[in-house]
Order: sequence, then structure tokens, then C-alpha cells
Amino acid sequence: MAAAADATPNLSLLAYGDVTAGCTRCALAATRTQVVFGSGSPTADLMFVGEAPGFHEDKQGLPFVGQAGKLLEKLLAQIGMSRSDVYIANVLKCRPPGNRDPQPDEIEACESHLFRQIELIEPTVVATLGNFATKLLSGRPVGITKVHGQEQETTLGGRKVLLYPLYHPAAALYTPTMLKILEADFARLPELLGRALEPTAAVEPELTLVGAQPPAEQLGLF
Ligand code: URA
Repeated sequence: MAAAADATPNLSLLAYGDVTAGCTRCALAATRTQVVFGSGSPTADLMFVGEAPGFHEDKQGLPFVGQAGKLLEKLLAQIGMSRSDVYIANVLKCRPPGNRDPQPDEIEACESHLFRQIELIEPTVVATLGNFATKLLSGRPVGITKVHGQEQETTLGGRKVLLYPLYHPAAALYTPTMLKILEADFARLPELLGRALEPTAAVEPELTLVGAQPPAEQLGLF
């Protein structure tokens, strides 16, 4: 499991990471090298949620360490942030063989790990990278092409957060128009982080769309 990068101890998160290291809730336990729990600041205001570990993540035990991760770091640098300022996790904590798409039963088996992480980290903005994270955390089947760049106030981990869907960096790596859109959506993150949320009242599963923009065309798998 990856160690948290922040000096602030979040013992519950560390302990939860230790628990997930031995997870056997789905068949991916048999083919993974290790569980990729997450990394970054355990008290981050901004949390990213990707899809699943790939080859390099599975080997190193850290999320987003391949080409997509390099782009994520570059995008963070463009808004004056680094990996250690944020927390990065995935929908699935284990690599699907051959980097195939996560299967519904795997997502179902793994989702409570992600929800617990959100509960323990208490981010104010959760940026979902690509379709799988966006659909899971919004609870809606609407694809990333339609909702990228549209922040949604919702309740996750018992607290109000701004859910902010973004294109997956892996998709933007090979599509310059998508990269431009991802950069423009990324540039709004500082403003979203500065936005005060209404205090949490009753837990409502419903989402409120705010600041809607026209949809952009999403190509490829993400
Ligand atoms: N690396 C990850 O950790 N997650 C992704 O979704 C893609 C690459």
C-alpha cells in the first residue's frame, strides 16, 4: 500500500488502507500485484477519482504514475498545485487484467472503499476523471461528454461536496481538442475550492446542477 504523503496524521485513513491491502472482495485479488489504495494529502480539500490502476500503478502501488499521471501532474502545476496538495484514488483499487474496463460486480464490491476514503479525507471538491468515476459518484448514467466541467453539489461520505467531472487524462493524452477542454475545466478548480458550501443538512441523494455548460464531444473509451 502507498504511504500517505502529508505530514498530518490521519490514522483512520492509514488504518483503513491497511485493511484494504488484504481485500478479497472480487476476483481481481487473484491477479493483482497489490492493492492501490490512494496517495497524497490525507486532509486534502481536493480529491481526484480515476478509474483503476494500470500496469505501472499495480507494480508501484501508487495511483496515476504512468503517462496519464504525468499529465495530471502537469495540469496540477498549471493551477499552482502538486500531487502532495491533493488526494488521488480510483474507483477500483486493483488492476483489471490487460487494463480492461471495470466490471459492474467489481465496482459494486469496491465502491465502499472509495466512499470510506471520501468520508475520512473530507474533501470539499471531488473531481472525477472519466466515465466510471463520474457515473459512480453522481449516481447517474450520464456520460462524461455531457457533464464535464459542470460542478454538482452532492452529499458524499455524509458531507456536502462539489462533484466536478473531468475528462480522463489518458483520453486527453491522444486528443488535443480534449486536452484543451481538460485544461480549461482544470483552470476552474481554484475557484471551486474557494467556494463555500451550504452546511450539510439532511443527507439527500439528489444532485443540483450549477454552472451548466454546453456539452463537448467525448471520443474514445473514457
Ligand atoms: N492510473 C490510475 O491510477 N487510474 C486511472 O484511471 C488511470 C491510470
